[in-house]
Amino acid sequence: MAESGCVFCSIVAGDVPCVKVYEDMSVLAFLDIGPVSEGHTLVIPKTHFETLDACPAELLSKMAACAGRIARALVAAVGAKGYNVLCNNGKAAGQLVGHVHFHVIPRREGDGVFARWPARKYEPGRAEEITDKIRENL
Ligand code: AMP
Ligand code: ZN
Repeated sequence: MAESGCVFCSIVAGDVPCVKVYEDMSVLAFLDIGPVSEGHTLVIPKTHFETLDACPAELLSKMAACAGRIARALVAAVGAKGYNVLCNNGKAAGQLVGHVHFHVIPRREGDGVFARWPARKYEPGRAEEITDKIRENL
């Protein structure tokens, strides 16, 4: 189902233009309008789901398969040495468009994209505490 006011649903409907990379019955891939590197592509389901956890597993698997194909093609097309697949979920995580999507971002050595990864360390016992809570919620 399309969600009114959703720009990605409007792209699926053909009401908003996009630079299309790939399309099948279930998924659509198009260039991000604000690329963090040349070829930065978005893979979306044609049906509206807000976040990854809301999206049925079968559809996610189609998106993941598509992201893999796109990634391989992107690396070949733009001469990248690697790629990131990124999925922001929720405002707090930086999701600006509330229609689940994978970013496929071609990377080159030293390109400075995501230059800082704010890795931290667990206090003793904290990792086990968190893990117990996660398992309780599975
Ligand atoms: P996110 O922060 O993960 O929700 O990312 C949303 C992405 O969608 C951003 O990278 C935007 O540049 C991109 N975007 C928003 N509107 C459009 C559009 N009309 N066509 C292509 N990309 C878009
Ligand atoms: Zn949508």
